[in-house]
Amino acid sequence: MEGTILVVNCGSSSLKVALFDAQLKKLSSGLAERLGKEDAFATVKGHPAQIELDALADHQQALSALVTVFRDDGLLDDAPAAVGHRVVHGGETFREAALINDDVLAAIKDCASLAPLHNPVNLAGIEATRALFPDIPQVAVFDTAFHQTLPEKAYLYALPSHLYNDWGVRRYGFHGTSHQFMANEAARILGKTPATTSIISAHLGNGCSITAIRDGNSADTSMGLTPLEGLVMGTRSGDVDPGLFDFLANQGVAPHEVHRLLNNESGLLGLSGQTNDMRTLCELADHGHEPSQTAIEVFCFRLARYVGAMMASLNHLDALVFTGGIGENSSLVRKKTLAHLSLFGFTIDDELNHHHGSISDGRIEGAESRFRVLVIPTNEELVIAREALASARPGMAG
Ligand code: ADP
Repeated sequence: MEGTILVVNCGSSSLKVALFDAQLKKLSSGLAERLGKEDAFATVKGHPAQIELDALADHQQALSALVTVFRDDGLLDDAPAAVGHRVVHGGETFREAALINDDVLAAIKDCASLAPLHNPVNLAGIEATRALFPDIPQVAVFDTAFHQTLPEKAYLYALPSHLYNDWGVRRYGFHGTSHQFMANEAARILGKTPATTSIISAHLGNGCSITAIRDGNSADTSMGLTPLEGLVMGTRSGDVDPGLFDFLANQGVAPHEVHRLLNNESGLLGLSGQTNDMRTLCELADHGHEPSQTAIEVFCFRLARYVGAMMASLNHLDALVFTGGIGENSSLVRKKTLAHLSLFGFTIDDELNHHHGSISDGRIEGAESRFRVLVIPTNEELVIAREALASARPGMAG
């Protein structure tokens, strides 16, 4: 097929790819998991059988195997017309997507100190794709770029200024592609232009963040220097007292253990002692499991607190938007969160909350609610495909 766009999203041991046609209709997607391990494997949507990968297969082998399936399925000619890469950290260098060349690669490497777990694997994905398709335009789309409109008062920490000046210690924000998609979709649903639409966008997946979008621009967001700050997440703590680091050091906990504790063992998993998966937690809570009930309460209360905090950045609010696996699917989380926000005039319609989407164009607020509340499925891959098309072939973007 002519003019296809390949979207690549690399994790440390995973690789997600999606293939779009020139009109940005999704043709297929695939996922490789457990890369670098003995039992690496891949799956492609619509193919019941797993795709064989060599033991210890790396990102390049996985990409090559998935691309071969797309070719065999007749979805991809020799090569796509462009490739869009999700890159987590663009620092202050990238305010928008960038056509990848050696300078852009060097700048992404420079940002790696800000995202040591993410940028190096994103670079591995770019290198793998460049090796496979050396003559095809590759575009980097940054999680941080949408938040480069944050005002100084929102991005500065109250720290000695040399930390910012010398090392770039500031709040950057993440999930930018999803929040940007929410801004555009909410405007479309509300019959407005993005430039006049102000929303609070809550992206609730395994990672969670919330953003105040004022007249189309990110004005405040809950994630900071790293994707650890802010809301309660699947395994991440979100906000803690910075005094905790000293306290734990005095208990003999080493820095790398603190890192693991806050990133991998906290959040819903840490509170419940059972799982980071909200759907399972809701089932456990239903059966009277108290730590799971507590985890859900803390999650929703922190989220509601942040909705209140985001109000400080807006001069009007067109809608509060829920997205991500939890935001799109958990009526319980939405209901509990909104229950904390009655003073602002939010109410919820239980029927709409339960059946959102099918009967309401995503609307779930009660008739008397002061503000609209929308549930909108996110589509980060589409944003990356659109950006790749726009950057790689200016004038052809749909
Ligand atoms: P990722 O950040 O990895 O893309 P997702 O956006 O897919 O994650 O969100 C995963 C989260 O969504 C998990 O906690 C999962 O349990 C939750 N989720 C999915 N469906 C439901 C549901 N029906 N009810 C509650 N939570 C759900």
